[in-house]
Amino acid sequence: MSSSRFRRGPTFRRNRFGHRPGAPGLSTSPVVSQAPRAASPPLDAKTLAASPFAALGLAEPLVRAVLDEGYAHPSPVQVEVVPKVLAGRDVLVCAQTGTGKTAGFVLPILQHLAQEGEARANQSAPTRRHVRALILAPTRELAAQITQRVSAYGQFLNLRHAVVYGGVSQRSQEVALRAMPDLVVATPGRLLDLMQQRLVDLHAVGHFVLDEADRMLDMGFVHDVRRVCAALPPRRQTLLFSATISPAIQGLAARMLVDPARIAIAPAVTTAQTVQQSVVFVARADKPALLERVLREGSVERALVFTRTKHGANRLSERLDRAGFLSAAIHSNKTQSARERALESFRRGTTKVLVATDVAARGTHVDNVSLVVNFDLPNVAESYVHRIGRTGRAGALGRAISFCDQDERALLRDVERFIRRRLTIGTSTPEGGASEFGAVEHSLVNCGS
Ligand code: AMP
Repeated sequence: MSSSRFRRGPTFRRNRFGHRPGAPGLSTSPVVSQAPRAASPPLDAKTLAASPFAALGLAEPLVRAVLDEGYAHPSPVQVEVVPKVLAGRDVLVCAQTGTGKTAGFVLPILQHLAQEGEARANQSAPTRRHVRALILAPTRELAAQITQRVSAYGQFLNLRHAVVYGGVSQRSQEVALRAMPDLVVATPGRLLDLMQQRLVDLHAVGHFVLDEADRMLDMGFVHDVRRVCAALPPRRQTLLFSATISPAIQGLAARMLVDPARIAIAPAVTTAQTVQQSVVFVARADKPALLERVLREGSVERALVFTRTKHGANRLSERLDRAGFLSAAIHSNKTQSARERALESFRRGTTKVLVATDVAARGTHVDNVSLVVNFDLPNVAESYVHRIGRTGRAGALGRAISFCDQDERALLRDVERFIRRRLTIGTSTPEGGASEFGAVEHSLVNCGS
């Protein structure tokens, strides 16, 4: 990733993936009818016009929104994609999460919608509102994230959007769709359900985005995607984003896109070459015992252990304490001062093992650790890179071991796709002898990229 990719404006105070308190975020309701927010005073017209985002062709309310988000420069994917989408082209983009791809498609689509809205308002006869843009995402987490970005980037525009995904009641989504959103973010299954019940009408969709298309295919959604596509007008703009461009994706692109601009963006983040990475396949129940062995036999100075939940972090830390390791847990349920104390004793070396959740670890200055253990694999592949970035700093050798239960195989695949390498496989039997752990060590030493 180029260093300029995510340079923030000077007043930016959030971490890269966080949202400022008070900034428009994910609505708990699936419909978001956004009244345009009053412009924040410090950004005058000159500043807006001089922004590199304006140079991409973005209109003032969108430039204002991204500057308000603290973005100083467009990322490479935005530089490539935004002008092409504004020009009405179809695009096939190879880009991963973390590159800023969401803004790459959301910003120009919002601009199209706003301009079409203006044109409509200038017509004498009033017209009905219709869904004019559809963004399809493979998971509800991703759909929710995209919706959050739509809220943020569209905060100074008078557009409505809605999100529909499965696993929750359909009622509120029906209400959202009746409110005639301009843009809908959806997962394929729930969208098809709603289409079959004639609760959503896609005949006026002029802009269609398929995000994380490779994941969509991996998850077996290819038929759903085709059925959604078949319900869209043939004359439309289509944007296909995928972390990898396999023959299957090429096939999908050939069917869906018309003369697309092809854009490939390098991954946003890469793992340090100085971190020896491995994965151990282990049953969930055996993970604590394996961790104890790793800590005992790996001559670990300072280990950072990641769990998915706060509860899990507490339980694990208690177990490690009982087993004689000096450990502490940090997560968002702990008071700030308790967290600070735990961090301080970890820095001093009194505590050897810090058990943390991603949220708690973010924004804390815990690095230079000798070992990172992903006790649970992260739900978001990019978190893997942030986690293991705590070790192997400044040329020092670091180690990262991921414990992968059967249920976490898909998460492992996501991580490996994200970092574009396979992790070396270590041993899986916690009660095995030292030689087996020796095998893990061996694999660690030999897993340079
Ligand atoms: P994405 O790859 O779309 O998931 O974006 C990853 C993160 O980068 C999100 O938290 C965005 O808010 C942030 N982001 C997107 N574009 C920029 C930019 N130009 N400058 C700084 N951060 C950005």
